[in-house]
Amino acid sequence: MTRRTILPIAVLVLLGGLAWFQYSRRFQEYRSDQFLMDTLISITVYGKNQELLRTAVAAAYAEMRRIAELADGFPQPGTAAWRSSDICRINDQAGKAPVPVDDDTVAMLLQAQKYSRLSHGAFDVTVGPLMELWGFGGNNPHLPSPEQIRAALTLVNSEDMIVNKQDHTVFLRKAGMKLDLGAVAKGYATEKAASVLAQYGIDKALIDAGGNIRVIGRNSRNSPWKIGIKDPRTSDAIVAILPLVDTSAVTSADYYRAFEEQGKRYHHILDPRTGYSATHTISATVITKDAGLADILSTVFFVLPAEKSLELAATLPGVELFLVTADSRIRHSPTLSGTIEITRSDAYRYDEGR
Ligand code: ADP
Ligand code: MG
Repeated sequence: MTRRTILPIAVLVLLGGLAWFQYSRRFQEYRSDQFLMDTLISITVYGKNQELLRTAVAAAYAEMRRIAELADGFPQPGTAAWRSSDICRINDQAGKAPVPVDDDTVAMLLQAQKYSRLSHGAFDVTVGPLMELWGFGGNNPHLPSPEQIRAALTLVNSEDMIVNKQDHTVFLRKAGMKLDLGAVAKGYATEKAASVLAQYGIDKALIDAGGNIRVIGRNSRNSPWKIGIKDPRTSDAIVAILPLVDTSAVTSADYYRAFEEQGKRYHHILDPRTGYSATHTISATVITKDAGLADILSTVFFVLPAEKSLELAATLPGVELFLVTADSRIRHSPTLSGTIEITRSDAYRYDEGR
């Protein structure tokens, strides 16, 4: 080879190297995990500037922690954590007085109340007394007596939760009422975190809040993010793969904190109209842009019968639904047909989602 050819090759290699360097510089990855709201949260972001990525993720976590503290129902009375929890202070004043709260608490509760009405009570954040009775918050969940359930049910009704938007106060009408934001706060906090990342100019990110997924933009290869929906009955198996761009996917399923008693399976998602664990569905995944809405709706659609859920989802713009029902069927919104990949049609009946 002459020096004349070596030079262009060297230039080409150099240019190639530069292009590669530019490319990888564009998509530096930064990931940080934190334990919050009883779950491992993971935020992964991509961008040019490592320093900016770190700052943005730290700010996103600060915002998540703030929401988590407002919504925490379990700190010890008298502690600083108890005083900074709007939910604890509202519950403490049930039947007594309205409590001044943060704007975000007002927003979470108004949204929750809206979907209680829309679901005719299948979803209800005043489910606290029932959750406590079943003991799902602690280490020893157990089957209560029918009398105990009847008594707790008299305290469950979102219409007795008075949210005053002007005064920023919340009042529970009956003594003994208790809010439980277990189905709301994680998604709301996730959406807030996504907004913070966007404010920092982040355009590629994945937030995984214990299976509540929110993505910004596309992944580092400029493709849709791909997430798997867990098989609710076989650990480590996946029933479907979903491509996601600028949206969220949130699953409510019956395999957390489940126990068996007298040959029956009980779990932490209750039907507030009966007081017992909901039985129609074993896994409900909602795909919609707002992770807060997705969290609420995943619980709504877990509790309602599949047919009702699919009907209701079809009336909500931008909302898609994927269900694994108790009679081992996979069903989903018709709009998912083109994008979703079903991977376990052997274990479940799948008639093109119908
Ligand atoms: P995950 O535990 O996976 O986040 P969900 O988002 O469905 O699942 O939330 C379940 C939690 O919501 C329960 O642990 C409880 O705190 C609360 N909850 C249970 N049943 C209901 C209901 N019908 N409506 C509103 N909240 C509920
Ligand atoms: Mg939920």
